[in-house]
Amino acid sequence: MREFESNLEAANKYLKRFSSNITGHYINGEVTVPAGCRTFENTTPNDQSPLGEIVEGSVEDVDTACMAAKHAFEEWRELAGPARRKLLHHFADLIEARAEEIALVESMDCGQPIRFMKQAAIRGAANFRFFADKAAEARNGLALHQDEHTNYTIRSPIGPVGIITPWNTPFMLSTWKIAPALAAGCTVVHKPAELSPLSAMLLAEISQEAGLPAGVWNTVNGFGEVAGKALSEHPAVKAIALVGETATGSHIMRQGADTLKRIHFELGGKNPVIVFDDADFERALDAVVFMIYSLNGQRCTSSSRLIIQNSLADKFITALQERVKALRVGHSLDPETEVGPLIHTGHFNKVMSYMDAAREGGATVAVGGTRREDLGAGNFVSPTLFTNADNSMRIAREEIFGPVLTAIGFDTEQEALAIANDTPYGLSGYIWTSDVGRALRIANQVEAGMLWVNSENNRNLPSPFGGTKMSGIGRDGGDYSFDFYMETKNVCIAHDTHRVPVLGR
Ligand code: NAD
Repeated sequence: MREFESNLEAANKYLKRFSSNITGHYINGEVTVPAGCRTFENTTPNDQSPLGEIVEGSVEDVDTACMAAKHAFEEWRELAGPARRKLLHHFADLIEARAEEIALVESMDCGQPIRFMKQAAIRGAANFRFFADKAAEARNGLALHQDEHTNYTIRSPIGPVGIITPWNTPFMLSTWKIAPALAAGCTVVHKPAELSPLSAMLLAEISQEAGLPAGVWNTVNGFGEVAGKALSEHPAVKAIALVGETATGSHIMRQGADTLKRIHFELGGKNPVIVFDDADFERALDAVVFMIYSLNGQRCTSSSRLIIQNSLADKFITALQERVKALRVGHSLDPETEVGPLIHTGHFNKVMSYMDAAREGGATVAVGGTRREDLGAGNFVSPTLFTNADNSMRIAREEIFGPVLTAIGFDTEQEALAIANDTPYGLSGYIWTSDVGRALRIANQVEAGMLWVNSENNRNLPSPFGGTKMSGIGRDGGDYSFDFYMETKNVCIAHDTHRVPVLGR
């Protein structure tokens, strides 16, 4: 209790500046609140109380930010790799120095439990350090030899880029997208999610403290339909990296068509976790619970479909029910809380609508299914488990994005695979078995960008991260990130030995 109170007190101290001033944009090295601008209210999902007013970015604001990024690009692209490396490491130091503030502000803004948000700054700083270390070699290419020519490739930053991020883990995801862009030599216009804008402003501030030249980092607040749309249509912006819903990816593809935007999409998922009867029972149970109920189930890689071998189902589901019932739901700043409030009432209502959809479809609401009225006005859902489901039901097909798990039984390996792949999505998958051959067979055949065998989601920054099917286009991580933010040029040099074709002599 004492830690909860001290978290609240510290959070209120950090949040005061947001409640007593309008949160503006950060454009060309300055915080701006354009004259006559519209604003919208930002609230905490813990109890719906206001956290402050946020500027609603207009098409003109986006244009100003994009032009600032365009001008700054000329200088930033020329900064030598080692100098960029040093600056980005300094950026990481500053993130670490403000770790407590970032965690508390983020937790209040988006409702993610503080036990997970404590990692947000650490992960964010790690993202900066990882890509900083690659800055010096980012332009390196290949040498490709032919008998009478030598080809070599060089890479150069593509230009100003737009980065559009969601509300589920805003700080971590923003750093993950922006750090490689800066390391590559691109300048950035960031459009954070309207439902969780605060940590983006902390990042913008840090960019200034770190000494990034004006215009290298710009943040425009506001709504997707206006500010996000204007950013994805802007001719100065060469690429858009989006983390968000699948439908938003389609919008951006259309919006960016006239200016031929390069796109990188990390979108929704309906990820399977397949548990065979030879799995390590306790480890599989821990991971199944963690991968859907952590981060309030608002996690792109959450395993929202439990595909469980019928021979193990009774025992596994009985144990699972006990664990789900025991999950501690509460205020996001309470260190005991395992499941916090959902981001917004609109999203809360969407998640709750699946409780009816489950019953209508013929599934059983084995645990949860209700609002936690006892926790007040916040968007608190009881962690929910649906059983007796099949893969044709809406609860098995649509991304719910909440602490809600749908369990589906299977008998054979082929059946498990068919269920796993019977989805429009293809982000991630998890396999639990002690049979190595089976793990390999299934890992090869599950249609997803990322598979984990006998593990929860374990992130390794050099490894590719991204989805297939309706879950995304492109990969993050390691050199994959640089591929997206850079153009590759091929230079072909003759050895002066080949015969040049002759015409008109
Ligand atoms: P969202 O698509 O509603 O919003 C994401 C961002 O896009 C926001 O900043 C929003 O303002 C902006 N946006 C909305 N419409 C736009 C438009 N027409 N043009 C330009 N920008 C627009 O997503 P959300 O609800 O904030 O986040 C949840 C979704 O994100 C889930 O589907 C989740 O699976 C997905 N997600 C995916 C990953 C991944 O790595 N694959 C990671 C986290 C979240």
